[in-house]
Amino acid sequence: TYTRRRLGQTSPAAADSVRHIPSAIALRQRPTVPGIRSTVGTATEALNVIRLMFSRLGSPVCPNGHRVSPTLDIAKAMDLPNDGESGMGMITCPTCGVRFMAFAAEDFAFNSTGACPTCGGTGQARTLAANRLIPDQTLTIRQGAVASWRLPGRNFMPFVAQAIGIDIDTPFQDLPKDQPEQVWHGERKKYAINIPSKTGKIFHMDHAQYENAFNAVEDSLATTKNERAIQRLNRFYEFGICPTCHGSRFAPKLLSQHLVDQNIAQVSDMTLTQLAAFIPEIYHWLPADMQSLAHDIIQELTQLLKPIMDLGLSYLTLSRAAASLSTGELQRIQLSRTLRTETPASFTSLMNRPSACMLQTFLDC
Ligand SMILES: [Zn+2]
Ligand SMILES: [Zn+2]
Repeated sequence: TYTRRRLGQTSPAAADSVRHIPSAIALRQRPTVPGIRSTVGTATEALNVIRLMFSRLGSPVCPNGHRVSPTLDIAKAMDLPNDGESGMGMITCPTCGVRFMAFAAEDFAFNSTGACPTCGGTGQARTLAANRLIPDQTLTIRQGAVASWRLPGRNFMPFVAQAIGIDIDTPFQDLPKDQPEQVWHGERKKYAINIPSKTGKIFHMDHAQYENAFNAVEDSLATTKNERAIQRLNRFYEFGICPTCHGSRFAPKLLSQHLVDQNIAQVSDMTLTQLAAFIPEIYHWLPADMQSLAHDIIQELTQLLKPIMDLGLSYLTLSRAAASLSTGELQRIQLSRTLRTETPASFTSLMNRPSACMLQTFLDC
């Protein structure tokens, strides 16, 4: 059918892998550790259908900011060959007449082209923590206030700071304002410096490269492959919610596309129960001539979600990171994939086999 063909084109690899997952793998004691870009939506493949729904049934916004109501023409444009001006995804804004490329299902994939540019689709951003770079502001720079300047190959940095005009013998917290600014954000420049040694000898460096407190960690990380060194450097970082996508993983531009009044991040944040309740709203919102297409696509979603909900996972959201799921939840998601691809008979025989100890595990959790 139309939908089946489009789905196949959207994710041929995923479809193949489902077909070949045997029950034995689904019921393995420890499910494979999910990747950082794996979510309930990607693991169940429900997000593939959601992406298709957003591109075929969704309401785009033209480059001039006009919201375009969903039409069959938009859905049809997605099926045209990809050949420029009149090709795939090109639609006309009924308000201002501008021709523009509407988002295709592929564009909504946060694990490829739809990824938030800041976090690359992980939803998390790693930032250097100022309070880890200078954990004790009562120390002077000479005493080692800047922790990142105590990294290997950076121990001359206090003397570069001195050459710049920073007082390295006053507690960091008491320095006049412009000096900490130099420590945090001073430019990467080369300076001629003198380094006094313990024996009283002076070492001269003609081209000592200044690295501010942040640069010292970044440059160290860029030049080392040593696992222990990388671990030591990682301690300067903290993980937080990505400030660009607020954890949704999607590129912000994709959020202009609506289904009813929801963007793809909001739909991903619905529990499966809420998602099921949202489906009638989609039908209600779409024009009469789109009902049949909507039915084809939405049926894919409901067929896919049913075994997951039957296994008691209705409380999950598609945006939930797979890595945060319990072993039991992961097993049930893997089992639901197996159930979709095997005949009901084989599941019945599985359920009736008391020796299937794994069954006990997933039912208990
Ligand atoms: Zn317009
Ligand atoms: Zn992000």
